[in-house]
Amino acid sequence: MLQDIEHYLACPLCAQDLTRHERALRCPAGHSFDLAKQGYVSLLAGDAHTGTGDTAEMVAARADFLAAGHYRPIVDALAEAAAAADPEGLVADLGAGTGHYLAHVLDALPGRVGAALDISKYALRRAAKAHPRIGAVVCDAWRPLPLRDASAGLMLNVFAPRNGPEIRRVLRPGATLLLVSPTARHLRELVDALGLLSVDEEKQRRIDEKLGPYLTPARQRQVEFTLRLGPEDVRTVVGMGPSAWHTDPDRLAAALADLPDPVEVTASVTVAAYRR
Ligand SMILES: [Zn+2]
Repeated sequence: MLQDIEHYLACPLCAQDLTRHERALRCPAGHSFDLAKQGYVSLLAGDAHTGTGDTAEMVAARADFLAAGHYRPIVDALAEAAAAADPEGLVADLGAGTGHYLAHVLDALPGRVGAALDISKYALRRAAKAHPRIGAVVCDAWRPLPLRDASAGLMLNVFAPRNGPEIRRVLRPGATLLLVSPTARHLRELVDALGLLSVDEEKQRRIDEKLGPYLTPARQRQVEFTLRLGPEDVRTVVGMGPSAWHTDPDRLAAALADLPDPVEVTASVTVAAYRR
């Protein structure tokens, strides 16, 4: 519930602590944010828009895909790494989507509470219900995060935007970021058949370089397995990829029609830990 994480939240406009006043969160400067009846709160700075987030339809398709267990090995690897990190304080998922990964991580961390951060209110309506210990917060990953300094014992970032300076600010000293990113082999068969842009071989090195000034790389683990996907699953998984994979819908539909049903596809990701 949102109440579980309120004492970790900060005002997105002035960075002071937020506290609850009836159906709103307020800071000492008088900035006020109404709680949505669906159980989340929007802490977007005034001029930000939720238009860049996912639509209700996209969110529903992703939720179904994840609920079907296609990415279970990734979920399990993440939960295992989270349990090994044994964090104190908040677990914050940056780009949490529907809260699928965070919910499984919290199952592996009894008594811990989680903040699901995302720009899509449709995703967060689901995240707010994904686990009793999740609080859901709409925010922009590229702006100052609405979390207090050194509030998080663990941060998750799964196929999501990474804001190095803000991740460092929010993590407690010695705390861990767990980052899941695709390798060059991820969805290889679809990249070839559908003419998508591929993930470059140097991706992990570039991530390490970008986070380098803020965090220290620790353990990395590859998780690779085979997916068996029907046409709808293929459409969904393409939409879940990096924005570079968003492709012309007509061309995509034609290429999809030529695929076997089901089609076997490689899933390949790196689960990387970084220390603050
Ligand atoms: Zn304020």
